[in-house]
Amino acid sequence: MQHLDISIVVPLLNEEESLPELVSWISKVMTEKGYLYEVILVDDGSTDRSWEVIKEIQKENLYVKGISFLRNYGKSAALHSGFQVVQGDVVITMDADLQDSPDEIPDLYRMIMEENYDLVSGWKKKRYDPITKTVPTKIFNAATRKMSGIELHDFNCGLKAYKRDVVKNIEVYGEMHRYIPVIAKWVGFKNIGEKVVQHRARQYGVTKFGLSRFMNGFLDLLSISFVSRFKKKPMHFFGTFGVLSFIVGFGFMAYLILDKMYRSYMMLPIQREVVEQPLFFLAITAIIIGTQLFLAGFLAELIALNTPNRNDYKVKDRI
Ligand code: UDP
Ligand code: MG
Repeated sequence: MQHLDISIVVPLLNEEESLPELVSWISKVMTEKGYLYEVILVDDGSTDRSWEVIKEIQKENLYVKGISFLRNYGKSAALHSGFQVVQGDVVITMDADLQDSPDEIPDLYRMIMEENYDLVSGWKKKRYDPITKTVPTKIFNAATRKMSGIELHDFNCGLKAYKRDVVKNIEVYGEMHRYIPVIAKWVGFKNIGEKVVQHRARQYGVTKFGLSRFMNGFLDLLSISFVSRFKKKPMHFFGTFGVLSFIVGFGFMAYLILDKMYRSYMMLPIQREVVEQPLFFLAITAIIIGTQLFLAGFLAELIALNTPNRNDYKVKDRI
């Protein structure tokens, strides 16, 4: 197999106008620097002429490879399929809409090869996007920083560079392309860096993500922070809350019963029936919820036990 310096993975959906310009720009930069490279264009179920355009481009440019999905599976799926076939030492991902500049590639390459970063994420410090997108994005980035402990300003930048090992060891699924640095860190790649990159307004076509991106992004953040911590030991999560809830309920209940016994024993004038106090219902609810959480924990443990990749540990080196 021929050795390659750089693999560039481009997920795309209906980007027929941008593709020729994008590929010729990439190859201009690559030839100037003398890199051996490949461009992997992953057509994520386009309904325009994107795939025809890719085939035409490929006739003239041997470095171009293409993957065409039967239907639209999403950006994460496209990245995943690209990552499976990459051969270069450094893997670059970029959007197809010419918002990311191929001129950034040499610097990104250098940061990975010389500064020994596992992953370098682009930072669109000055963005050319509508305000409806830039403001929520700020909130989203702050939340992700807090949750993951990774100090990046721009998690979801399409322009990123990776060591090949990184992309071969992470799994990008669902819509998790927004959290690749988080997934990488969780797998064990800690050298995560950032580089300010140029950003441009979309040249052709329209954005492929609607407003739903914010809700989905938020829910994905919740699930990724949950899964990264408790995937292999769900009982630690459910069990903790289950025990807490159970103890609280049990404590309330014990108090109510002791209180009742004490009052009748001392023959105090005010007798309080256990079932007539609001605390009783709280106690019952807490006990039931505690039991439910325990059950959920057990079921989750059984599921975790049955997943085929439960002992899937990423090995760094063997001698
Ligand atoms: N994209 C994709 N599949 C999808 C949606 C988007 O491959 O289902 C590609 C799209 O063609 C582009 C990149 O992902 O190359 C980023 O999408 P877009 O530019 O629409 O997002 P935005 O820049 O608005 O965040
Ligand atoms: Mg874009």
